[in-house]
Amino acid sequence: MTPIAAAFHAVRARIAAAARVAGRDAAAIHLLAVSKTCSASEVRAAFEAGQRTFGENYANEVADKAASLAGSGLEWHFIGPLQGNKTRIVAECCDWVHSIDRLKIAERLSMQRDADRLPLQVCLQVNVSGEASKSGVSPGEILPLAHAVAALPRLCLRGLMCIPEPSEDQSLLRSRFALLRQLSERLQAEGLALDTLSMGMSHDLEVAIAEGATIVRVGTAIFGEREETRAARTGEAVLP
Ligand SMILES: *Cc1c(COP(=O)(O)O)cnc(C)c1O
Repeated sequence: MTPIAAAFHAVRARIAAAARVAGRDAAAIHLLAVSKTCSASEVRAAFEAGQRTFGENYANEVADKAASLAGSGLEWHFIGPLQGNKTRIVAECCDWVHSIDRLKIAERLSMQRDADRLPLQVCLQVNVSGEASKSGVSPGEILPLAHAVAALPRLCLRGLMCIPEPSEDQSLLRSRFALLRQLSERLQAEGLALDTLSMGMSHDLEVAIAEGATIVRVGTAIFGEREETRAARTGEAVLP
């Protein structure tokens, strides 16, 4: 087994174990491989290990990778902060966007999505951490945003996404994920057909699965620690 195949195997085993503890079917939990800052050849190695869906944070990076791996049937999920001047690239290259927190961005994506393709599948990013976080729509503002996004013709609203503040406190993390699940239930009670909770990363996927995650977004546990993370941890400079 290649190192990357072994890493996938280990992450899938964690997902299966967490699903068992939660009394859930592991098949209902999708593993999204977060390949930001990875090279196209690392993505290809993951493809050869059987992975088909990849998460990216930077519009130019996903455009380059999607072009260099075109025709392999990969699915690209945009999960990073999205600026208005990058929506066209994302509407053209991606299948999913998890990080919508403003109507303006959603409207641009809908306008720019090619009519010949499937609608862009989208999640709203929610700020579940209050003042400890800046990105995401606040829970109090989600209902009108969800209705407005659901009405856009070239988007399909699938669910909610969150990134809790970094913490070692499992019960705090669990309460953040529980909040996202409760918000999703509330929107479903309002008539919105949502089937996706995008939550959980390398260090907290078990907690997210306990609260109902349907997509876990995993980078480090598959591809190893990123330069930027290591630099932030050790205080060394990242070379350009
Ligand atoms: C980088 C990133 C991930 C993956 O994080 P890891 O800790 O490396 O698993 C997941 N979601 C988002 C939005 C990210 O930016």
